[in-house]
Amino acid sequence: MLGVVKEFGHFRAVDDVTLKIEPNEFFTLLGPSGCGKTTLLRMIAGFEMPTNGRLLLDESDISGLLPNQRPINTVFQNYALFPHMSVAENIGFGLKMLGKPKAEVDRTVGEMLSLVRLNGRGNNPVTQLSGGQQQRVALARALAPRPKVLLLDEPLSALDLKLRKSMQIELKRLQAETGITFVFVTHDQEEALTMSDRIAVMSEGKVRQVGSPWDIYDHPAERFVADFIGETNFLEADVVSLGGGLARVRLSSGSEIAATFPSDFLPQGKVTVVVRPEHAQVVPRGDSTAALKGTIKDIVYLGTDTHFHIHLDDGTLFIVRQQNAKSGPCGFAKGEAVGIGVNDDVAQILRD
Ligand code: ATP
Repeated sequence: MLGVVKEFGHFRAVDDVTLKIEPNEFFTLLGPSGCGKTTLLRMIAGFEMPTNGRLLLDESDISGLLPNQRPINTVFQNYALFPHMSVAENIGFGLKMLGKPKAEVDRTVGEMLSLVRLNGRGNNPVTQLSGGQQQRVALARALAPRPKVLLLDEPLSALDLKLRKSMQIELKRLQAETGITFVFVTHDQEEALTMSDRIAVMSEGKVRQVGSPWDIYDHPAERFVADFIGETNFLEADVVSLGGGLARVRLSSGSEIAATFPSDFLPQGKVTVVVRPEHAQVVPRGDSTAALKGTIKDIVYLGTDTHFHIHLDDGTLFIVRQQNAKSGPCGFAKGEAVGIGVNDDVAQILRD
């Protein structure tokens, strides 16, 4: 899509979005409620017309086509199956409407039942299925006409946590097996990281960053992205030198660390540096690896991990997440003055 804008009256819900989604990609639009992701999806589907900009599919402009003229299907959160129909009738509905011969409809329905692992359930009324099974029927129905693109608008949010986790894996498998491009909308960052080939992080109608899950997580370019995805420590620092694609920055403690930075940005002077909690370790105060110094405010034991909430000497709160490599207490106490080691080259400088 090229320069896509959607205005409702004077309100700009989608603000100049240009995105290239690749064929056979699991692509996620991620952002908080109201950021414009559903509006963007509805424009791809054809339910909303852009105020400005163009939508291209395989190089041809689809902006003027009606929803049913686009080789695109949508699965909604409230999957709206037809309650008076069987599983097979629901799955075959779209194909029947397209006027496909009965033999072809039956064959495709059979394939779809097996794809979503509901073999033998074709004659069941949909009302007798569990929520997860109904969601599979909705997926099968949307996949049956073999669209080029499947749009999924928070399709898992009505399911309980355990079912949601298994459906995440299921959706990823379905995308890989069918080779259909999936465009998935969610506000759940963990869901986006788990499933996507690439993620576009949105806020206030704009795309803030596009990248693979590890790009977005390890190299957030903006404060919004760093804050929205995962837990983050923000540190003020001064750039000392640049070289080899890295910057050396001096922290408020006087220590220097190496940091990465966005490729379209040349850091200088005062910058903000992001350090993920799992990229730091609590060490004795005098340890040679201590890049920061502070006092432990809280220790939270979580079985696999321990979280340390540390007040740095300059007053900033810093969180360290350490894997528990051995059993028993961590060896540090609340109120203890400690040092913090920061792993090499994992800190990231944010764009201004
Ligand atoms: P959610 O996850 O809550 O659905 P979202 O990121 O999908 O949020 P949208 O539904 O795209 O956000 O809405 C973006 C903004 O546009 C919101 O402020 C919403 O109130 C507004 N909006 C959406 N549709 C309309 C409409 N038909 N008329 C007026 N404003 C609208």
